[in-house]
Amino acid sequence: MPKIAVLPGDGIGQEIMPQALRVLKHVVKNLPDWECTECIVGGAAIDLVGKALPEETLKVCKKSDAILLGAVGGPKWDNLPGPERPEMAALLGLRKAFGLYANIRPVKMMPFLLDASPLKRERVENVDMIIVRELSSGLYFGEKGRKTDPPSGYDVMIYSEEEVRRILHVGFKTAQARSKRLCSVDKANVLETSRFWREIANDVAKEYPDVQLSHMYADNAGMQLVLHPSQFDVMVTDNTFGDLLSDIASVLGGSIGMLSSASLGNNIGLYEPAHGSAPDIAGQNIANPLAMIISVASMFRHSFARHDIADKIEQAIDQVFAAGYRTGDIAKPGDQVLGTKEMGDAVLAALA
Ligand code: NAD
Repeated sequence: MPKIAVLPGDGIGQEIMPQALRVLKHVVKNLPDWECTECIVGGAAIDLVGKALPEETLKVCKKSDAILLGAVGGPKWDNLPGPERPEMAALLGLRKAFGLYANIRPVKMMPFLLDASPLKRERVENVDMIIVRELSSGLYFGEKGRKTDPPSGYDVMIYSEEEVRRILHVGFKTAQARSKRLCSVDKANVLETSRFWREIANDVAKEYPDVQLSHMYADNAGMQLVLHPSQFDVMVTDNTFGDLLSDIASVLGGSIGMLSSASLGNNIGLYEPAHGSAPDIAGQNIANPLAMIISVASMFRHSFARHDIADKIEQAIDQVFAAGYRTGDIAKPGDQVLGTKEMGDAVLAALA
């Protein structure tokens, strides 16, 4: 029986998750035995049980095949010590608990949203790419600290061969299923970890003779994402560069409210919007629920190999756009602006 752990979290997570769940329940209504279990996480969990990632939530996730996460964090919990904050305790806690080492972030320009992009239409109209980011090692996970004499701070960046190989395999396999072009991004001109990464990329490439591998420096990749983003199909990169580059790529499509991300490990997948809990708009029924709904599609694609269901959800969203419906973050004059719940209604109507 497929089991899904549902973690709405904080802020707009509480508003977008119910819409995603309506879509999920609709598409599985004729399939037997799908089980969704809702759990607390993030600041909401701190308020209730004093911990951002309670044991009970972890237990449910461990028994599940996939996790749907809304967003965590908010000003109410900003003053807690780092390791207790929702972002650290819940997000990093889940990544660690499930060995989620690959973050897959698709960036696709929807034709109806060309005018919502901050870039000129001709620059973004053919953008359809995936960023594969290493998620569980590198600079963010290395030893860090302060020294007093002289005062300084340090973060160590280290990658093992196994860590680099496994993420490159994800990159090559992703490219293999698409246009068979993979761009590996590093800073091999200055970083030893990058030279190591590049050597391994060239070695792993021998196992994928049908995929054309190219290398690009991370600073150039940032520039190219703005100048000529449609040149990319699949990009694979480390944790830090992936963090920065996927945020640059996130705005190409017009709004971060449209972007989902999948974090994959060996067994379980975690699916969530790329955005946070948006406290500035929480509780107003104006958040865009589509990234959360696209996360459901992504879950069907990656965790259950149900590409038919994923396609169906994505096509329903296309139909909603074709009918002229938008949430405020992606609306232009003349569009019909819908609230969070009403956008959920529109997707459901398109699925019916
Ligand atoms: P954010 O992504 O929450 O918001 C950035 C901007 O985008 C805001 O103006 C917000 O209104 C807008 N926005 C975000 N999602 C939207 C949506 N679905 N529809 C319409 N507009 C949307 O980033 P932030 O403001 O830097 O962070 C807010 C909180 O979220 C912080 O506590 C942060 O630590 C946390 N956070 C959590 C995650 C996560 O749970 N994965 C990720 C990033 C940030």
